Amino acid sequence: MSADVETSLRAPKAYDLARQAIAAMEANKVWPTALNFELWVHYLAAKDSPLGAEIDQMLEAGEPFTDSVGETLAAKFLPKQKLSGEILDAGDALSKELDSVTRAIESARESSEAYGQELANASESLATEDTGNIKAMVDTLTQATQRVRQENETLESQLADTKDEVGRLREHLEQTRREAMTDGLTSLANRKAFDEALERACEQAEAEGGILSLAVLDIDHFKAFNDTWGHQTGDQVLRYVASVIGRSGDAPRTAARYGGEEFALIFPGEGARMALSILEEIRAEVASRVLKRRSTNEDLGAVTLSAGLAERHPGEGPASLVERADAALYASKRGGRNRTSAADPIAAAA
Ligand code: C2E
Repeated sequence: MSADVETSLRAPKAYDLARQAIAAMEANKVWPTALNFELWVHYLAAKDSPLGAEIDQMLEAGEPFTDSVGETLAAKFLPKQKLSGEILDAGDALSKELDSVTRAIESARESSEAYGQELANASESLATEDTGNIKAMVDTLTQATQRVRQENETLESQLADTKDEVGRLREHLEQTRREAMTDGLTSLANRKAFDEALERACEQAEAEGGILSLAVLDIDHFKAFNDTWGHQTGDQVLRYVASVIGRSGDAPRTAARYGGEEFALIFPGEGARMALSILEEIRAEVASRVLKRRSTNEDLGAVTLSAGLAERHPGEGPASLVERADAALYASKRGGRNRTSAADPIAAAA
């Protein structure tokens, strides 16, 4: 499907397709983000594709087309995103492959060394006996073994080089993986890393009967702040808020940039009471700092955060947990901002 779609996007009719995509997104209440736009253009260009079938099914079922739905579809069907997922998987496979090659090399080296040693020992013990021809034969064998050993040494040094190269490759792969999971601006975990961490945390809590809380935090009036002070200062504020949230995000917690000015904290093994007190510390710290515009030294005032918190219910999956934390966040916004709300009354009382 994708090659045809890519071609049709560079044809005169492409502008029609783009207009149709915007109209269809608006009609179906889909936010006009770049990713959604790409998905809807692909959808309209090839409705009979697997992507088309999946979107049609969703529309029929009346399911909302949320950002995370968009990201899942993109990872599955859009060529670029699909490729980057596949590259990471390939990296995994390569890493395992290299592990087993390295182990094989190591064991071959050990057995060849043991063989040489055995022959040398045999030759030594025969030298003390009066065994004439046998000794000459063994000497020949020993020389042969020495030659093999020399060859082995050359091979070993080549293998050592290969091993170093494998180590360098692995390090590079690891760094690429870290970068793919990290938000470039704030250095917190990115959305992909967050989704994976939350999924893992939910599965673990379910398997072990453990507790788990999730918080989402949003900078208040960030759009107005950006409009007033410009994007560069806005980015600095994102970095500042991220640094405060990140200080509370050591493992096993995960601190992530969830979207534009929205952040998230996953608290595995911690209930709403603990999470609430951490959120309050973060909120108070951010609100208490008067920020400066670096270029002019003007006072920017303080920025504030609204937060929403949900403790996982038994059997609850990531989507529902996020939804409840989001609903609590909107309660904080409606309640006047610069506050934290919890999804459940018990947690709120705590
Ligand atoms: P950054 O500019 O790279 O600063 C990193 C850290 O260095 C800061 O972490 C802080 O611990 C220290 N630092 C840098 N400049 C100063 C300073 O003038 N005075 C003091 N006392 N410490 C300083 P922090 O505070 O967590 O901030 C993280 C990031 O948030 C900063 O990275 C910057 O990008 C942004 N940021 C923080 N405060 C402000 C501010 O008042 N205005 C602007 N525009 N950005 C800020």
